[in-house]
Amino acid sequence: MTLNELGNLVAERFTQTYGRPPRWIAAAPGRVNVIGEHTDYNDGFVFPMAIDRYTVIAAAPAGEAPARVQLRSTVGNGPASIDLAQPLKPAPKGTWYNYPLGVLAGFAARGVKVPGFDALIHSTVPLGGGLSSSAALEVSTATLLETITGHKLDPVEKALLCQKAEHEYAGMPCGIMDQFISVMGRPDHLLLLDCRSRQTELVPMTDGAVELLITNTNVKHELTGGEYAKRRAQCEAAAKSLGVASLRDATAAQLEAAAGKTDPVAFRRARHVIGEIERTLQAAKAVRASNWAKVGELMYASHASLRDDYEVSCPELDAVVEIARGIGPAGGVYGCRMTGGGFGGCTVALVRAESVQAIADRIAADYEKRTGIKPSLFVSRPAAGATVLRA
Ligand code: ADP
Ligand code: MG
Repeated sequence: MTLNELGNLVAERFTQTYGRPPRWIAAAPGRVNVIGEHTDYNDGFVFPMAIDRYTVIAAAPAGEAPARVQLRSTVGNGPASIDLAQPLKPAPKGTWYNYPLGVLAGFAARGVKVPGFDALIHSTVPLGGGLSSSAALEVSTATLLETITGHKLDPVEKALLCQKAEHEYAGMPCGIMDQFISVMGRPDHLLLLDCRSRQTELVPMTDGAVELLITNTNVKHELTGGEYAKRRAQCEAAAKSLGVASLRDATAAQLEAAAGKTDPVAFRRARHVIGEIERTLQAAKAVRASNWAKVGELMYASHASLRDDYEVSCPELDAVVEIARGIGPAGGVYGCRMTGGGFGGCTVALVRAESVQAIADRIAADYEKRTGIKPSLFVSRPAAGATVLRA
């Protein structure tokens, strides 16, 4: 289904729900990070793309109560009714509409007057599946509010407004990647994002012969040891012992020279981050050159580093990567790696488009054989970022 067709479908459901057609429709995509993992909080680079899965929000001016926003989602959570005459504040943690509420608050904080409206939200991004349905919800809401109010935000400011909504309303201290790519994604392009300067570069990936295949392992290992916080602390300690502000500023040679006096665990963590930043820049270069063998090699190296040095993989993620490697270039697979924070979630593979169905079938069958778990698979080319479908 094209994005326009999805928009029309949501318009129909809006009409069924509210008894009148929507005046405005906006959409924003989920994303996958192709390479650059655990680099964001080390001031490094990430290299995501928007995927062909969208959150669509359709809206019309409020019916009876003019200073009220009514939000409904097709995924079955109860509707929200937000009184715009009152100061906005977060609903209890875990409430689904905290994401759009935080975005409304961001517009209010800029003095932008938002009139009441009724909205219906529908998403083809799986919720909680590691493809960032949360950013898609925030960015689609922000895009809708730009359309309703006529107050257009600069793309960086828009992404940061959405990130702040996730921090302060959803209580999730995320980085900047998800919102940046959901705002700035473009068909046939990946986004190289410098998490230090926030500079972005759209890198063309126009060769239609390759696609990205995402496999959700459908496991999420609950960790009790505060693993993310530990990794961050280890990175900070490693940077300090190297005498740099962040690992972005350290080189592999510098790290090797300090091997004797660095704690061995911190050393491995730093080796991942420093290597991954370098791999991400190399991958951008290889994508520009349509050198898919090289991109694939960098993806496998990224996975090995996350598994062995950063220790954030798990048997299920490793299983998918091994199966992909077994299919190999002859079967149409260039490379594969875990994507996202780790300990479960998704892998991303670079594959030949003509073989994608056979590859997906094989990964699904072999993964289930090995683990007893059914995976979910998605194929995408680099897709469009936030889009206004009806203004
Ligand atoms: P991810 O971003 O990886 O999908 P998160 O836990 O960050 O996972 O965000 C998922 C949450 O976002 C859901 O539990 C829900 O509260 C909210 N959400 C996202 N999309 C929708 C939607 N279309 N309708 C209702 N709630 C949504
Ligand atoms: Mg999220």
